[in-house]
Amino acid sequence: MAYAALDYFAIDELFTHEERLIRDTVRELVTTRILPGIGKHWSAGTFPHELVPVFGELGLLGPSLTGYGCAGISPTGYGLICQELERGDSGIRSFCSVQGSLVMYPIWAYGSEAQKQRYLPGMAAGKIIGCFGLTEPDFGSNPSGMLTTATRVPGGYRLRGTKRWITNGSVAQVALVWAKLEGKVHGFLVPTTTPGFTATDIHGKWSLRASVTSELHLDECEVGEDALLPGVSGMRGPLSCLSQARFGICYGAVGAAMSCYDEALSYAKDRVQFSKPIAGYQLVQQKLVDMVQEITKAQLLCLRLGRLKEADKLQPGQVSLTKRNNVAMARDIARDARDILGANGVTDEYQCGRHMLNLESVYTYEGTHDIHTLVVGQDVTGMAAFDS
Ligand SMILES: Cc1cc2nc3c(=O)[nH]c(=O)nc-3n(C[C@H](O)[C@H](O)[C@H](O)COP(=O)(O)OP(=O)(O)OC[C@H]3O[C@@H](n4cnc5c(N)ncnc54)[C@H](O)[C@@H]3O)c2cc1C
Repeated sequence: MAYAALDYFAIDELFTHEERLIRDTVRELVTTRILPGIGKHWSAGTFPHELVPVFGELGLLGPSLTGYGCAGISPTGYGLICQELERGDSGIRSFCSVQGSLVMYPIWAYGSEAQKQRYLPGMAAGKIIGCFGLTEPDFGSNPSGMLTTATRVPGGYRLRGTKRWITNGSVAQVALVWAKLEGKVHGFLVPTTTPGFTATDIHGKWSLRASVTSELHLDECEVGEDALLPGVSGMRGPLSCLSQARFGICYGAVGAAMSCYDEALSYAKDRVQFSKPIAGYQLVQQKLVDMVQEITKAQLLCLRLGRLKEADKLQPGQVSLTKRNNVAMARDIARDARDILGANGVTDEYQCGRHMLNLESVYTYEGTHDIHTLVVGQDVTGMAAFDS
């Protein structure tokens, strides 16, 4: 069944020609190269590595960065890439978010010229894969409490600690590890072949199964002085990267929701019960209309987010509010779509069950739903309900 992307308010007209072109290219890629095999990868718990060079060729890795082999497209264009990739699978979008927003962006923004030359062209081409090590077993929502340390040694630094839930961890050639040096958080670019660095995969996930998630062990891992990201210190470093990645998640969640809506609508038109298609019953229509309403609102939020970012006016609270809204919206829609598909909705023949489970991770990572509530709560009241 051909994909009919929901655009109830003709938002398409508000994108530039280039943005539509990029979006349509990725839409086609998802239809022809991702969707045919994603179910098998998800069931097997494997990541489709064969797609990485394709992402590189199409300029999907770090696409809104400039120079160093990056495409330099608009933030809205980047968002639309995330939207389309997540129509395929949240794990695929996660791969690109980590690579582009969580590793390439900090190298581009805070790295030395030598670090940029060493990593960015290869990462843009998909020849070097990166991972972002912030979360630890005992520090998730409060990463500033991290226990991982860096100490100065002759010629560089020695890293000690454990990072958990790290996307791309065991397939990366470089890990951006956040560690405390003399009590202050700094980023270190650790080649994953460095002695003392190991990555073990986390198995048994029932979410984001087509994405690699690992634990990183830094056991007396010594890196050179050139590993330190020189341009940033303190929590501003990792938090600014997360803001970039959350921007993409806001759009990505819309893509997952659009996929579920499309599937539910076409299923409801075909599925006959009590002598007519279930799409003709009021209760089913209400679910479909709720989906149209919530997706449309989320699409408009994304568009505004992109334009604010382009004007350099975007505030972190606005990103938090949109991540909070859009991911919760997509999670609800995936569940309702699964309901409309009845028993068929629990099989891997359809997309919505996979989206529903994937979105549980998206709801939790990059700041949980509730943490974003507290971030916006602090923004509007001026009072912190948590230690930020
Ligand atoms: C598949 C996957 C991939 C990931 N990839 C990465 C990655 O690449 N790099 C990385 O660094 N991390 C990654 N993460 C980790 C992710 O960012 C964390 O899981 C997230 O920050 C939440 O931390 P936690 O799991 O420790 O939950 P916790 O912080 O323990 O939170 C548990 C619950 O408590 C709530 N809570 C916590 N504090 C408060 C409070 N003050 N007030 C009210 N409620 C509170 C939370 O909202 C949540 O509901 C990934 C996670 C997953 C699942």
